[in-house]
Amino acid sequence: MKPLAALPAEEARKLRGLLFDLDDTVLSHGVLTRAAYDALWDLKGAGLVLVAVTGRPSGWGEVIARQWPIDAAITENGAVLVHREGMAIARVEACDATERRSRRIRLAQLVETVREIVPEARLTDDVDARVSDITWDIGERVRLPDERIELIAEAIRAARARTTRSSVHIHATFDADDKATGTMRYLVSRGEDAGAARSRFAFVGDSPNDAACFAAFTTTFGVANIERHVERITVAPRYITPSTMGAGFAEIARALLELRATSAVASRE
Ligand SMILES: [Mg+2]
Repeated sequence: MKPLAALPAEEARKLRGLLFDLDDTVLSHGVLTRAAYDALWDLKGAGLVLVAVTGRPSGWGEVIARQWPIDAAITENGAVLVHREGMAIARVEACDATERRSRRIRLAQLVETVREIVPEARLTDDVDARVSDITWDIGERVRLPDERIELIAEAIRAARARTTRSSVHIHATFDADDKATGTMRYLVSRGEDAGAARSRFAFVGDSPNDAACFAAFTTTFGVANIERHVERITVAPRYITPSTMGAGFAEIARALLELRATSAVASRE
């Protein structure tokens, strides 16, 4: 990973938008700081497309897509897209209602299995706002030891479900999407070319469930706290910020806006 300061102006200048994880990336220990929120407004003011790409529930996506200066939220690790349609909010899923019901029944059975194997594991407090997955708390209200987390992961895989981990949750889902496929489907639905979008949209994240986007996009950033997870990340981001979480996100916003301004001036001369 190179320092953020090594980002060339040309690379910043060709971006049409910024895609970003929420927990421990824009949010600092779950809180939206003033610096991070200002950074979002500054990026929006500069005309960049802004898309949250999160493992958080689609119910959260519906709130932030209404209230934040963003174009859409890709939620539940890519499975559910939430975006504005005028004053309304649209929710888009890759599977139909019958299949969704069947998957939810299987997830409920998995919850019972995990309860027997790891009785101390707790579902996350945002689980009721989820559509496509089930999540256990591993680092938000409680910190579960790695070997107990691995037992949950084994139970998920034994049920033929997929599992991913963020800094705070472990997920189980029968959906096939990851953050990258869900994001790319949204960008293509906006009329972006799937090939060109890889270098026209940058991604910021901090943890193993961001690896799909670190691999899918050309310009990728990790906030400094990514160092904590670097051994478990299959693909690392290209640049790393000096500061952690929301402060690191604000540094990226500042760098992008400054580089885009300077290169625009240079190109006019
Ligand atoms: Mg995160």
